[in-house]
Amino acid sequence: MAATTEKGTISIHTENIFPIIKKFLYSDHEIFLRELVSNAVDATQKLKKLTALGEFSGEVGDTRIEVSFDKKKKTITVSDHGIGMTADEIKKYINQIAFSGAAEFVEKFKDKADAKDIIGKFGLGFYSAFMVADKVEVISRSYKAEAHEAARWECDGSTEFELEITKKETRGTDVILHINKDSEEFLDEWRLKGILEKYGKFLPVEIKFGTKEESVEDGTDKEGKPKYKTITKDRIINNPHPLWTKSPNDLKDEEYLAFYKELYPFSEDPLFWIHLNVDYPFNLTGILYFPKVKNDFELQRNKIQLYSRQVFITDEVKDVVPDFLMLLHGVLDSPDIPLNVSRSYLQSDANVKKISQHITKKVADKLSDMFKKDRAAYEKKWDDIGVFVKYGFISDEKFNEKAKDFALLKNTEGKYFTLEEYKEKVKDSQTDKEKQTVYLYTTDAGKQDAFVQSAKGKGYDVLVMDGVLDSHFISNLEQKLEKTQLKRVDSDTVDKLIAKDDAMASVLSKEEEEKVKTLFEKAINNKAMTVTVESLSPEELPVAVTMSEWMRRMKEMARTGGGGYGFMGTMPDSYNVAVNANHGIIQKVLRAETEEQQLKLAKQAYDLGLLSQNMLTGADLTSFIKRSVEWVS
Ligand code: ADP
Repeated sequence: MAATTEKGTISIHTENIFPIIKKFLYSDHEIFLRELVSNAVDATQKLKKLTALGEFSGEVGDTRIEVSFDKKKKTITVSDHGIGMTADEIKKYINQIAFSGAAEFVEKFKDKADAKDIIGKFGLGFYSAFMVADKVEVISRSYKAEAHEAARWECDGSTEFELEITKKETRGTDVILHINKDSEEFLDEWRLKGILEKYGKFLPVEIKFGTKEESVEDGTDKEGKPKYKTITKDRIINNPHPLWTKSPNDLKDEEYLAFYKELYPFSEDPLFWIHLNVDYPFNLTGILYFPKVKNDFELQRNKIQLYSRQVFITDEVKDVVPDFLMLLHGVLDSPDIPLNVSRSYLQSDANVKKISQHITKKVADKLSDMFKKDRAAYEKKWDDIGVFVKYGFISDEKFNEKAKDFALLKNTEGKYFTLEEYKEKVKDSQTDKEKQTVYLYTTDAGKQDAFVQSAKGKGYDVLVMDGVLDSHFISNLEQKLEKTQLKRVDSDTVDKLIAKDDAMASVLSKEEEEKVKTLFEKAINNKAMTVTVESLSPEELPVAVTMSEWMRRMKEMARTGGGGYGFMGTMPDSYNVAVNANHGIIQKVLRAETEEQQLKLAKQAYDLGLLSQNMLTGADLTSFIKRSVEWVS
């Protein structure tokens, strides 16, 4: 045999290629297994293809790929029964293609940080084995080979290699890694199983790794009860026919739900899903699930898994999927996404853009369908999908164009309206003298109840906007809707929220109003509170404490750090105290005998205003209660 051994030097221009590759790939050594198993899968599928084309007429036999390890010998072996390689092919594919790929890789990316994304692209797959191995052996028998003739190649990661003719029982390739000192962590059943499950869970060819014990029925005992025995079976890592590769027409809801559980074992059932199946102008399959969206967005992101021909690539799909769709769960599989190139390239890639737009369109179409087919069911789901639709509505123009027909507004009565329907509903009653239609909303119907009630008393409708994204949704609606403003129901007194021409007359004279204003200012004694006297209906609150819509929004923006309004954050809160000239209490304040009594009454009325805004706390609340108790005793 020794006579046939060929020694050679791999011709590449870059010396010391492995130290460089090792340095780049340092953090991600485990991908060597993904690469070797993917190669084994490719070789197996090529054989199946050749068989289908009639170019291989031998026995296909068992096509399982086996991954095994030997702790004593310190080896990891990946074996397949694929097409195999002849000695010449090893020279061509392993020595030349793989090495030149590696050389090209190093040349191009030696200064880049994200080189780990690039491995496959440069045929670096095979050579990633040298990240964990001192020596790699390839023993391969081609499907074309005569009898048992096989080739054995060996390389220690330098540019020197050895190649000899040998014998091998079965067709296919064994890649044997002699694990280096630093990588002995991989000589561990659970570590290897974990890596295989991470990258190979849905590979299209069965992957065997070790064995497992299973309890099976074995006849019955004397009483007719079933007996069991334990048998040892091959442990298959993967499901080679995951749901997304099947035709949607053949699938039942239960299967989609079961697959969801397979992907996310501990999650609640999703609300619904979309099965993607495109082959032109790009290739994309996958299933996207709509989870129940919780308020904690971050936890729910990065749940979509990206595959390329069933090989897991990443769960960071940031550049492939529009931001608002990151809340979805599921899988995407596309050989057309250039997974192995750098991030910035991905963003500008035309295929990626098309795929992202396609997904957006599909999602919008699905929602639109659901809305049209069964509005009641759609409304029921709204509380769960609303956040998601609003996110898309705000952030994606293309989605917005469609979503404006199925985005819903919900009012305090629990009724739902499309944007168009709502406009119709309120346009007559809620248009002010400037011809602006005012939509009123509450962010907390419980706390803002006094204001909600007074708006309703006027015949106005109040929307519920208590979601995490609603403040953004509100500003976005204002930009999109013509001549429409949104005002929080407690941002002013009801007559000023929607100012009409038929303002109520004040029962007070100018002097009396001045007097009331001075008294209240004195009683309140707080510069942040601006007192105005207004003529409202006697049924309204005697005193309403409000913060203007504008001021509140600026404050909110400052708090969330947006829009350069940082300076607002340092300004003290300031409120408007609207004293209702027409309310009975105000007459009482004016008519009280001493100034002390006047101030006490004014203070009480003011405290009631604070109370209805949940703003009365601490010592102020205590003295309010004390004062009230004295009055009623
Ligand atoms: P890539 O898979 O991206 O082409 P690799 O470096 O992983 O790059 O492999 C180089 C080539 O070696 C492959 O294209 C294939 O022709 C050949 N090869 C690698 N592994 C096997 C295998 N298990 N069976 C048959 N051929 C293989």
